[in-house]
Amino acid sequence: MKTTVYVGLGSNLANPIYQVKKALRALEALPVTDLRAHSGLYRSKPLGPQNQPDYINAVAALRSELAPLILLDKLQAIENQQDRVRNAERWGPRTLDLDMLLYGNRQSQDARLILPHPGLFERAFVLYPLAECAPDLVLPDGQSVYDLMLRCPAQGLCRVD
Ligand code: ATP
Ligand code: CA
Ligand code: CA
Repeated sequence: MKTTVYVGLGSNLANPIYQVKKALRALEALPVTDLRAHSGLYRSKPLGPQNQPDYINAVAALRSELAPLILLDKLQAIENQQDRVRNAERWGPRTLDLDMLLYGNRQSQDARLILPHPGLFERAFVLYPLAECAPDLVLPDGQSVYDLMLRCPAQGLCRVD
């Protein structure tokens, strides 16, 4: 059985627009998974350390038969294929970040996989592209993504044409 999964994409190194487009193709190629839709590209200011380039972000909607932790492994493998370097600095610059925003209505507090992704509720670079992909989406706690987006300041987010 397939579950709808939303993935947040972000990059601010090594040609971020290219990195995000390449990652969308990698998501499309995942086994027993369909890429159903994706948002346009957005530019955002970094979280945390400000001495790093702006980010390019997007959200993808998948339908997948992969179990949540297997899919997380695959997302991390795509990050690694695109030369993601993990270092100590929280929210430091990276070639690719793939966050699992939602896995159906699943809720999880497992440290490896928190669902929904805790940043989703307050991050413009997640809510705006997520609402673009799925304007009618309702979160497991009953909140409407569209309403959350309307209440979330744009935080300097802009569409990239
Ligand atoms: P943030 O999670 O605040 O956006 P980040 O994306 O920079 O920060 P990472 O360094 O990419 O954080 O990931 C740290 C760990 O978060 C990963 O090893 C992963 O196991 C865990 N994690 C927990 N929940 C999720 C989720 N929903 N999607 C992706 N990773 C998650
Ligand atoms: Ca992230
Ligand atoms: Ca991440």
